[in-house]
Amino acid sequence: MHRKLIVLALVLSAMVPPMARAGAPRNGDRFLNSAGPREWPGIPEVLGFFLRKTWQSFLPPSGAARRVPFDRQAMERNPSVTWIGHSTLLVRMDGVTFLTDPMFSDRASPIAFFGPRRVVAPGVPLDQLPKVDFALLSHDHYDHADVPSITALARGGTRFVVPLGLGDVVRGAGGDAIELDWWQHTRINGVDIHCVPAQHFSGRSAFGDHGRRLWAGWVVVGATRRFYHGGDTGFFSGFAEIGKRFGPLDLAALPIGAYDPPSIMRFVHLDPEEAVRAAVDLRAERVVAMHFGTFDLTEEPLDEPPRRFRRAATRNGFDRERAWTLKIGESRDW
Ligand code: ZN
Ligand code: ZN
Repeated sequence: MHRKLIVLALVLSAMVPPMARAGAPRNGDRFLNSAGPREWPGIPEVLGFFLRKTWQSFLPPSGAARRVPFDRQAMERNPSVTWIGHSTLLVRMDGVTFLTDPMFSDRASPIAFFGPRRVVAPGVPLDQLPKVDFALLSHDHYDHADVPSITALARGGTRFVVPLGLGDVVRGAGGDAIELDWWQHTRINGVDIHCVPAQHFSGRSAFGDHGRRLWAGWVVVGATRRFYHGGDTGFFSGFAEIGKRFGPLDLAALPIGAYDPPSIMRFVHLDPEEAVRAAVDLRAERVVAMHFGTFDLTEEPLDEPPRRFRRAATRNGFDRERAWTLKIGESRDW
């Protein structure tokens, strides 16, 4: 009898899809993607990419996203979203105010004069923000987890919700962090904040910390609205799983840039067409594009992602009312 029960438990657990079980997969103290390890192109290709990007970082950039003066009233409407640049959105819904991946600095790098630089100023300066209840960080890369931005927000009383392991960066910057694994959630000021899977990687230094901090997306569920923050992610089956559990989502923020060359980027970043497919899988009513036009990270022209995104969105039935490429500083009700 006892043995039969054990067999039954094993059979049942094998029937649950892997991502629906406990948290993110891991190997020792390193987190892994559900799809397993990523394939790397040869060293010459990777080295060539980094050399070309280093050279380009000294040239004047072109194709930055357009920027408009922010409108304080529009920014404080409930519900609304304001694009501050890159993956930083100011969101108001169900009485809370939060930021996604707050990044207000000039360089996405630990070194002041090196690394991807900002090509257009933040749409709202840090000191002009309304009171921010919490910030969601998707992972530890410098264009998403920025120490000076965290320090400034923490001083103003903002709390941080982060994937497992990223709390050390927040605490080091003087903030408080709630750390969650995939499919765990917490509650702040009446909204539920769910940590959901993404397909990416982590590491802030060339040595040692690769994969030690988890990467994630976020779903915020309030009394009347559901918002999704995709963070940094490649295309994966997790979108359909998230859509099944939380859809329909009123607004999904999806990254559309940093896809070229695909041999290096495809596993970890969406291209614009994949972002639209992700919006479909997520069962998103509306989608707002991010992660483009602000930092020159990869080889596609800076203004190519929004053009391709618009075309792909239209082909898939997302008209201008449902698929947004905002100007930096622009607010939209939803
Ligand atoms: Zn990243
Ligand atoms: Zn990024």
